[in-house]
Amino acid sequence: MGLFTFRGGAQVPHSKERTEKKPIVNCPPPEAVFLSMRQHIGAPAKVVVQPGEEVLKGQVIGQAGGFVSAHIHSSVSGTVKKIHNMKVMGVDTTVVEISNDGNETWHESVKKIGDVADLTKEEIRKGLAESGIVGMGGAGFPLHVKLSPPPEKVIDTFIINGAECEPYLTTDHRLMLEGTEGILLGARFVMKALGVDSCYIAVEDNKPDAIDALKNAVKGDNAFQVVSVRTKYPQGAEKQLINAITKREVPSGGLPMDVGCVVSNIATVYAVGEYFEKGIPLIERVCTVTGSGVNEPVNLRIKNGTKLSHLISTAGGLSEDAVKVILGGPMMGNAVDSLDIASTKTTGGLLVLNEEDARIPEPTACMRCGRCSDVCPVFLQPAYISFYTLQGNLARAEKYHPLDCIECGSCSFICPAKRPLVHSIRVAKRQILENRKKS
Ligand code: SF4
Ligand code: SF4
Repeated sequence: MGLFTFRGGAQVPHSKERTEKKPIVNCPPPEAVFLSMRQHIGAPAKVVVQPGEEVLKGQVIGQAGGFVSAHIHSSVSGTVKKIHNMKVMGVDTTVVEISNDGNETWHESVKKIGDVADLTKEEIRKGLAESGIVGMGGAGFPLHVKLSPPPEKVIDTFIINGAECEPYLTTDHRLMLEGTEGILLGARFVMKALGVDSCYIAVEDNKPDAIDALKNAVKGDNAFQVVSVRTKYPQGAEKQLINAITKREVPSGGLPMDVGCVVSNIATVYAVGEYFEKGIPLIERVCTVTGSGVNEPVNLRIKNGTKLSHLISTAGGLSEDAVKVILGGPMMGNAVDSLDIASTKTTGGLLVLNEEDARIPEPTACMRCGRCSDVCPVFLQPAYISFYTLQGNLARAEKYHPLDCIECGSCSFICPAKRPLVHSIRVAKRQILENRKKS
């Protein structure tokens, strides 16, 4: 099988060498966890516990607030200490603080759900709605919703996304090596829920050991096809991956289901296996803590709701010249100004940069080289969107379709003038959406 890829994209440094060979280790349990009711796209969950109440590990403490929502389960056994309303990364959020008693006592609901052969499609979807599993690659879309497309959308292709194209992050890579069977187990449940009998597992070709591990595990099983995709950013973006493998184009404003596809990230599929095999809802995940600003970069298995400060101290603490902390990777992550916030179901990486790595050169005038358009995977003209946005001419900027931008950051990365392209496009998107809400 040859290499698959999409048009556009950029060659960005991988910077994964700090952690790609380090096995996943358990993060020491924190003294308390801080569980946000907004860890997914859709309605926030509703708190169903009270301060002072004893809770067990795996117990629902936040009930899904609608169909497009997800339950939140306790990641420890202990006592509900406080329920706060706070702003997390600019968004109002209810957070349940639970003191950890250290006993790891499981809730009675945590037991094997069933084997794939014994469960119907509907039972699997219903189980997933109980599991709290959401897309763990960053989007946080509730999985039971993704696997319940309307009847007119016929799904014929399921793709497991193991591209992990974001620099520095190695969580999916390690999971493909250390949790290979768990991924295949979870995939079987997803395939049954979708009514498909095969799937692709797409892995960037800079992870040959993961490709080998998966190929060995699926040998002789026609349900799985392991596909090497070219190492190119943003190969792991959903629409780009679909195009690379099937040559189908998801239309502007459309969804993968519009072209018969569903894509799920490696960690998400692994979590599905854990749920049906052991009854463990989504209460922990793997997170890479890395960068020039931490002393001992590491891949950690973390409990949902762990403070970033605890993750950093587990990674040997901050280096003396650490200046910037990013939740996620350098291309699509968000800088944070406090370590006093807690991890969520989508926290796959924590990147800390030292002064040298964090330095952003002063932007200079656009030289109209066109490189930003060449790399844009959705064929936009970032220079124009940015130019008109910075001029305050939003109406003109909108003509260049900023809402189609997937915020991959390739344009900013490639720009020789170091223009703040993705930043200004984000501003344009936000303003356009706000204006639409008002009108
Ligand atoms: S315009 Fe958006 S989608 Fe295109 S390269 Fe820039 S950030 Fe990526
Ligand atoms: S890459 Fe930078 S310098 Fe070149 S056209 Fe785009 S904005 Fe201008």
